[in-house]
Amino acid sequence: MIRQSFSHVRTWVFDLDNTLYPPAARLFDQIEVRMTRFVMQALGVEQDRANHLRKHYWHTYGTTLAGLMREHDVDPGPYLEEVHDITFDTLEPDPHLAALITNLPGRKIVYTNGTAPYAAQVLKARGLDAAFDALYGVEHADFAPKPERAAFEAVFSRDGVDTRAAAMFEDDIRNLSEPHAMGMRTVHVAPKAVKAEHIHHHTDDLAAFLARLT
Ligand SMILES: [Mg+2]
Repeated sequence: MIRQSFSHVRTWVFDLDNTLYPPAARLFDQIEVRMTRFVMQALGVEQDRANHLRKHYWHTYGTTLAGLMREHDVDPGPYLEEVHDITFDTLEPDPHLAALITNLPGRKIVYTNGTAPYAAQVLKARGLDAAFDALYGVEHADFAPKPERAAFEAVFSRDGVDTRAAAMFEDDIRNLSEPHAMGMRTVHVAPKAVKAEHIHHHTDDLAAFLARLT
């Protein structure tokens, strides 16, 4: 029974983008346009080259920002501000999901490769802001992103997460690998299931999944 698999969990860790709102909101589309524009301006390249570099950075370093920092010593502050300067009108409040998260036993935190202020804006638009005890972004891991082990360690030690008694909800399967290795229960939240040893559960409906746990 699924509830049993989570009975030891005291800390519930949620990714933000495409996890706490449906991919259909297409929020990330707005961010991607800004990321590409930033790469074009910072490196003085055309759009095609910028998109190619973004893919390369994502595969090699986990995020566009990590690639820009490693290969071009880019300052993360202006980048993070610019790419997250978006509108949230495609997001709808989800009181049902808010109640389900609130009712989970223990501590609830968000950990995003965006920033904590950005996460706060998204959660507000979703009506989920009161459901969480703390928000963590890439700035809390010295700008190292998930899926890096050091990033998870930085955020989890800052919050005092006992990973043996924690669960992680994520849409990017790469970001479940280290949590699994650290002893966490892993839940892949995405339209399509992917078979991988480091994924304990899959759901295409976060609210329906959480409803089965409480
Ligand atoms: Mg995500």
